[in-house]
Amino acid sequence: MASLWARVQTISDSSTSVLTRNLTTLNEEKTGDTPCTTGENVILWVMTRAIETLRLSQLLPAIRDEFDLVPDIRNVDASGHVHPMSDVLMAGLAMMLVQDPSLLEFQNRLEERRRGNNLRTIFGVSKIPKESQFRRVLDPADPSIIQNAFSACVQRLQKTRLWSEYRVLNGRYPVLFDGFEFFRSNKQGCDHCLEFHHRDGRVDYAHQVLAATLAHPTAKRPIPLMLEEIRREDGTQKQDCEFNAARRLIPNLVKQHCHLDLIFVGDGLYSKVPMVNLIIDTGSSYILVAKPTDHVALEENLASLRLCDGVKRLEFTTDKGKRRVYEWVYDVELNGSSSLVTNWFSIAEFAPSGKIIYRNSWITDLKPCKSNIEELVEVGRHRWQIEDQVFDILKNHGYHLEHRFGHGKQHLAFIFIILNFLAYMLHQLIALSDRLFQAAMEKIGTKHKLWDDIRVLLNHFVWGSWDALLEHILDYRDDTGFESG
Ligand SMILES: [Zn+2]
Repeated sequence: MASLWARVQTISDSSTSVLTRNLTTLNEEKTGDTPCTTGENVILWVMTRAIETLRLSQLLPAIRDEFDLVPDIRNVDASGHVHPMSDVLMAGLAMMLVQDPSLLEFQNRLEERRRGNNLRTIFGVSKIPKESQFRRVLDPADPSIIQNAFSACVQRLQKTRLWSEYRVLNGRYPVLFDGFEFFRSNKQGCDHCLEFHHRDGRVDYAHQVLAATLAHPTAKRPIPLMLEEIRREDGTQKQDCEFNAARRLIPNLVKQHCHLDLIFVGDGLYSKVPMVNLIIDTGSSYILVAKPTDHVALEENLASLRLCDGVKRLEFTTDKGKRRVYEWVYDVELNGSSSLVTNWFSIAEFAPSGKIIYRNSWITDLKPCKSNIEELVEVGRHRWQIEDQVFDILKNHGYHLEHRFGHGKQHLAFIFIILNFLAYMLHQLIALSDRLFQAAMEKIGTKHKLWDDIRVLLNHFVWGSWDALLEHILDYRDDTGFESG
C-alpha cells in the first residue's frame, strides 16, 4: 500500500485550490443533512440532494434495480445456472465503465488473493460469471427491458438543476437520432445479420443501431436515451433499415418521456412525409434536414414564394465579420403528391471575403420568427453532435464500440452495445455531478489519465466502495475502505 500511496502522491496537483474548495463544499454537504428554513434555501437543499443521486455510488444501485426486472428465460434446471441475470449485466456494465475487457479475469484473481473483489463491493455483483457463462446468459435477454436503465438515470437528472441546461426553444428538449454500424463481416454471424449483396456476388453481414440522444447545442454532455437495433427478424429474409427503426423507436421514446416536449432532430433521410406524420402523431416536434436536391417540389414552391416576397429574411454580420443570412417560410407543401404542409428555414454563412462557408436548410413544425430563428438553426446545425461526440468517442476513444465482445445467436451483440452506451451515459453523468470524480479529474489532469489510474487501482486492490477509491486518489484517506475480515 505504501508504494501505491507514493505513486498517488506523485500525481500532478496543479489545482490544489479548486480541489480544496470542492472537498470543503463536499464536507459541508455531507454534514448538512437538515434543510435550512427559508424557501430559497430549502429549494437549494433539495437540488443539492438531487445532484447527490447522480453520483456513481447512487446510480449503480438504481441501474441494478432495473436489471433485477430483466426476466431470466434460461431453463432453471440447466447446469451452471448460478449467476443471476442482474449480476451478469452489472459485470458487463462494469467492464464497459472501466473500459477493460479483461476486468472479469482480474477480479476473479483478486477474489482468490484477497477474499474480495471490486465487482462485489462497487457493483454489487455476488458471483463473477466466467466468459462463457457471461455470453450464454446475456444472449437471450430482452434488450428493451435492459434499456429501462437509461430512463432510470434520466429521471434522476430531471430532478436536478442540470436538466434545464438541455432545454431549447421555450422548454423543449432536442433529441438527435442517427444510425451507426458496429459489426460487418463477410461471414454470417447470426440469423439476424443484415445482408448487403455486392454485384460480384460477395455478401457482407452487418449489425446496425439507431441511437436517440438528448443534446443541447452548447452542452458538452450528450445523454443517450434509447437504442433500436436494425436487424432481420426471426425466420424472414426481409431486411430492416434505419428509417423503419426510427418508426419503432420514436413512439416508444415518446411514451417513455410523455411529460416532455421533444423535438426530433434528424438528417435528410427523415424529411419524408411518413416520418413527419409519425412525429406529429406522437405530439412531438421535428427539425429535419431538407436538402434542395432531395426536395425538388419544395424548392419550386420556395422559388415561387421568393418572386412574390413570400420568404422572410434576417441578415447580419457577426463580430468576426461573417455574414449570416437566415430565411424562412410558413406552410409550404413538402412534396407535390401530398397535402402535408410544413415550415421551412435555412442559413447561409459567408466569410468576410464573401466566400460561402456554410449552408443548410430544414423543415419544422415550429414557427420560425426573428426572435427564434438563430436558435432553430443552432439546434438543427448541431445534429453532428451525435456523430462527433457520441459515435466517434464510442468507436475511437476507449469504449471499444466495434470490439467483438461476442455475437451470439439472438441479442448478445446488441446487449453489449447497450451496456457500452450505459457506461458512456454514466461517464457523462458523473462528470456533470459527482464531486469526488470532478475533484479527481482536477487533480489528475485528464479523463484518460484518471481512468488509467482507476484501472490500475481496481486491478491490484479491493476497495470498500467507489467513493473510497476516489477519496484515496484525492489524498483523502490512505486505506482502501475494504475490511477483508
Ligand atoms: Zn448477426
